[in-house]
Amino acid sequence: MKKDPACIFCKIVGGEIPSADVYEDELVKAFLDINPVRVGHTLIVPKEHFPFMTDVPDETLSHAFKISKRLMEDIKQVYNADFVTLAVVGIDVPHFHLHLIPRKHSDEIPVFWPTSKYEEGEMEKQAKKIRSFISGK
Ligand SMILES: [Zn+2]
Repeated sequence: MKKDPACIFCKIVGGEIPSADVYEDELVKAFLDINPVRVGHTLIVPKEHFPFMTDVPDETLSHAFKISKRLMEDIKQVYNADFVTLAVVGIDVPHFHLHLIPRKHSDEIPVFWPTSKYEEGEMEKQAKKIRSFISGK
């Protein structure tokens, strides 16, 4: 199993750093974020070190999403939330993880990044660029 000795999530998985755990099985571990957006903000990580989502084996990835779906429903009920946001940010800790954040429709949490608009015709051009790459593989 791949580990990065400098990785905070590998240390949490290995028990070197204490965590407030909410779920664990053979492939993933879920624990509370130390800096929550909202109380109950949970992180779910593969136990093995994979920096990005594209590095995670399909079986582990689908398992992480399946468990996230289950935990989202549980967290929603525990916190009487209107919904639970599932987010893959990917720029904070380089060990793939999913954020599960209990939300209220009225909580006014801002979107994670600023958005922009496409120029006329640019959106279709960009979609075609991706489609062409996919079909050319
Ligand atoms: Zn790691």
